[in-house]
Amino acid sequence: MVENFNIDKLVRDNVKGLSPYSSARDEYVSDGSKMIFLDANENPFDNGVNRYPDPQQRSLKAVLATQKKVAPAQILLGNGSDEVLDLLFRAFCEPKTDNIISLPPTYGMYKVLSGINNIENREVLLTESFEPNVAEILRKSDQNSKLLFLCSPNNPTGNSFSKAVVKELLQSFKGLVVVDEAYIDFSPEDSWIHGLEEYPNLVVTQTLSKAYGMAGIRLGICYASTEIIAVLNKIKPPYNVNELSQHRAYERLMDQEAINQEITAILEQRDCLSKALLELPYVDRVFPSHANFILAKVDDANNRYEKLLAKGVVIRNRTTQPLCENTLRFTVGTPVENEQLIRALKEIQ
Ligand SMILES: *Cc1c(COP(=O)(O)O)cnc(C)c1O
Repeated sequence: MVENFNIDKLVRDNVKGLSPYSSARDEYVSDGSKMIFLDANENPFDNGVNRYPDPQQRSLKAVLATQKKVAPAQILLGNGSDEVLDLLFRAFCEPKTDNIISLPPTYGMYKVLSGINNIENREVLLTESFEPNVAEILRKSDQNSKLLFLCSPNNPTGNSFSKAVVKELLQSFKGLVVVDEAYIDFSPEDSWIHGLEEYPNLVVTQTLSKAYGMAGIRLGICYASTEIIAVLNKIKPPYNVNELSQHRAYERLMDQEAINQEITAILEQRDCLSKALLELPYVDRVFPSHANFILAKVDDANNRYEKLLAKGVVIRNRTTQPLCENTLRFTVGTPVENEQLIRALKEIQ
């Protein structure tokens, strides 16, 4: 597969024929010298946001490229990773013809996006140990299986998938393998970005919504081959990352120390919470986590969920998810929030 990989075979026919929309800002980019921009019908009076944002987000990509050791042309940015994932559907999946493979229990957006885009979602349950079931994935996929979503660390189970299993899928799956790394910054495992050279069918998505503390600005990132990124660039809305988001993201990326401090604090709190959960008589199991949340199995998830809610603590009840009967998902909060959560957990015994 990897040897004779041809991206053209995966791209939708209508997308093949497209060329990217050329906006005013694409046609002429300032080289730093003093120019007068009368090309985009903007209001000329400066208020910080009167100009259209850079459609290619060059400054942001330059920082990310350096930090992640990839070329800027291997990066696509979107309005959250949700937009990035949607672009993958729209570029590669022909409605009513193609299909995707997702592995429940996992992030809900893969299913939502397959519904919106009218693409069949073939679900293959994770194994009991929450790993992808390779044999079953290959059995259920065919020449129309364009995308395989591997969420690692997985939401809501919290585990990273085994490297050997992911490698096997990269070598044998005929479409694109999308590794959703929303939680990678909390994980001791390496990012799959390092595999981009070796696997032309690999797509890695990340986000500033979790470890980077910027869910509010909506900034999602896709790393892939320059060929794949070129396809996505053809269909992305020209100004999909607004000026305020680009600006705030840039500032944040330049402050890795602050980010690392927060991650360290969250990991400490994750350990604390995990220990506290294990001591509760109604908690049967605490699943190991490589993310900023913990999944725990309790005696009666609906009952515990309601009781916590009555105490003003909002968590996620995952009991209706396959393999997740009677589980609750706890996001790791601040030390003070965690203390309050643990007190509430004890009070509802
Ligand atoms: C939270 C989360 C995201 C984040 O999506 P954004 O649109 O970037 O906020 C992506 N994937 C998974 C698995 C998540 O849990």
